Amino acid sequence: MSAVATRAERLAAALEVRELDALLVTNLVNVRYLTGFTGSNGLALVGGEDLRRFVTDFRYVTQAEQEVEGFDRVTAESDLLEAVPAALADGDVRLGFEDQHLPVRVLDRLREALPAAVELVRAGGLVEDLRAVKDADEVARVRAAAALADAALEETLAGGLAGRTERAVALALEDALRRLGARRPSFDSIVAGGAHGALPHASPRPVEIARGSLVTIDWGAELDGYCSDCTRTYAAGAEPSAEARAVYELVARAQAAGLAAVGPGVAGRDADAAARAVIEQGGHGAHFGHGLGHGVGLDVHEAPRLSRTSDATLAAGNVVTVEPGVYVPGSLGVRIEDLVLVTDDGHDVLSTLPKDLTVVG
Ligand code: ZN
Ligand code: ZN
Repeated sequence: MSAVATRAERLAAALEVRELDALLVTNLVNVRYLTGFTGSNGLALVGGEDLRRFVTDFRYVTQAEQEVEGFDRVTAESDLLEAVPAALADGDVRLGFEDQHLPVRVLDRLREALPAAVELVRAGGLVEDLRAVKDADEVARVRAAAALADAALEETLAGGLAGRTERAVALALEDALRRLGARRPSFDSIVAGGAHGALPHASPRPVEIARGSLVTIDWGAELDGYCSDCTRTYAAGAEPSAEARAVYELVARAQAAGLAAVGPGVAGRDADAAARAVIEQGGHGAHFGHGLGHGVGLDVHEAPRLSRTSDATLAAGNVVTVEPGVYVPGSLGVRIEDLVLVTDDGHDVLSTLPKDLTVVG
């Protein structure tokens, strides 16, 4: 059985647990995961033993023939929802829908189109839960995306940091990602020098990177639909201040503690706590205002979360980031992020670049 067919089987099993007869999948990333379809207009219906229906429009008929396997393919005249009622059994049906994705307006239209015997049930997150555990093919794709991203950064750093603008470095990095085969960056690259690094999601500025400052670079590649995500912080052109080095080493220790905590059966909040304790003991607890990490796959941010409020428990096959940071407003920022596969007996770090504080010319 192919990986894609197995995914529909796993979803059907999850529907049974929730006493749902079928799930209407409208989120395109979830549609891709279940059917293989990479176009921009499609939906899937999955239920019971034999309901595997994929609906798209005229523009994607040929693409769907090439990509979608194990599903009956239907071409809708205009509105994809028109094909939903005919796919459902007669009589009482509990139809789940992705309530975190489906616009209220579309839900209203769906309600009107369906017979009264169809009960619409909020069922968001079911496919996302499946996606959190990667199969071998997905892990290989994430690993390849991470390797490509690392090569692109190494190439970019060979051109130096000090004296270049943040924007020039980001552009060179994104150019290298594409040239090496990425479909695109998996998110807008962050290149943030000096005090700008204190903004966790800083945009690259047309501002020169000062010698002796720290530069945070957070970047990723999208390859075959799968994302990578990594952060490194470098010193530009010269040894940084003693304070900057101390913050760097604190974050590096926290990152090591977070990594050491990652393994199957570990609560997402416990992994977060392991790293956070180090930063709190170093006196910078108030400067670490985000969670330790997140899942990565078809989306760059997905389940499971590693944070103070996470209720996730890590399982083999999860791919997560471990990315503590310290952000001192008006002064500096440091973040170190690895991409990590949870394995049966621990974890495997997919990011390969060194983490000792490195001076880049
Ligand atoms: Zn990142
Ligand atoms: Zn991240």
